[in-house]
Amino acid sequence: IKTIGVLTSGGDAPGMNAAIRAVVRKAIANGVKVKGIKKGYKGLLNEEIIDMEKKDVSDTIERGGTILGTARCPEFKTEETQLKAAEICQKHGIDGLVVIGGDGSYRGAQALARHGINTIGLPGTIDLDIACTEYTIGFDTAINTAMQAIDKIRDTSSSHERCSIIEVMGRNAGYIALWCGVANGAEDILLPEKYDFNEQNIINNIINNRKRGKTHHIIINAEGIGHSTSMARRIEAATGIETRATILGYMQRGGSPTCKDRFYASIMGAYAADIICEGKSNRVVGYQHGEFVDFDIEDALAMQKTIPEYQYQVSRILSL
Ligand code: ATP
Repeated sequence: IKTIGVLTSGGDAPGMNAAIRAVVRKAIANGVKVKGIKKGYKGLLNEEIIDMEKKDVSDTIERGGTILGTARCPEFKTEETQLKAAEICQKHGIDGLVVIGGDGSYRGAQALARHGINTIGLPGTIDLDIACTEYTIGFDTAINTAMQAIDKIRDTSSSHERCSIIEVMGRNAGYIALWCGVANGAEDILLPEKYDFNEQNIINNIINNRKRGKTHHIIINAEGIGHSTSMARRIEAATGIETRATILGYMQRGGSPTCKDRFYASIMGAYAADIICEGKSNRVVGYQHGEFVDFDIEDALAMQKTIPEYQYQVSRILSL
């Protein structure tokens, strides 16, 4: 392996820059050249490829977003496009590619590996929804950002004796909702993996809490359930208590990464650089049981994970 490329793909996540930085610096330390590919697979197809030196990633570890940019590229699902991308890599002398993104991005990496380009995936998503790893780059920053925002909403919610529904991101997964629900002491935590759509239970909960003298009622709702605004209308009508929905949205994807995100992204990025320089391909890096590990992409994509039952049960007990 003489030259590798690095790209970010799918949704951006805080810590991606720390991962890019680590890939660049560790590969160069291993004697391998690095090219940055802008805007994910789309940029690869448009040949938006730049040389990257150690200094090009100075002053980036603390920055949110991704310095390389990211994009969705639906046409990458076709064999024809994948072949073209592999040819572009060969034309630019890129023998290996580190892809920072989620499951969709790994499928693209798998396709490139089939066409002779060595690929390694790194888990970059705020949603924590990648089965082969207990940690994904961006999750820690996102939950801290959401937690701080929820604290603020809670203050005003208490002052006005309101019920607040706060919708957090996570796509179809409830990890952000679970963590914030526990960390913010929410009264109700709605997770796509668990929610039974019985709104009457929530309504009863609100009424009982109000009788017990609670001045606010915080409901953390996951993006995968959604419909927070209409839920608020129905709850207000049923309880007579002013109810407001706040959808936190993209603020959760931005901001300077936390120490944890910077650290994990750095170690994982370096790990990816090491194994790609060794000639490994079609692998994805993960963190399991206190160790950094790598899996075959096929195996990684076949793995499943869900909300740990004990954590969920505790969240319910504590949220009385
Ligand atoms: P996140 O879910 O965190 O945003 P992701 O990587 O799962 O990250 P996707 O939009 O699913 O996000 O995928 C990113 C890109 O990966 C797609 O735009 C496409 O270019 C490529 N991709 C997705 N699925 C496939 C596939 N089946 N085959 C080849 N490429 C794919």
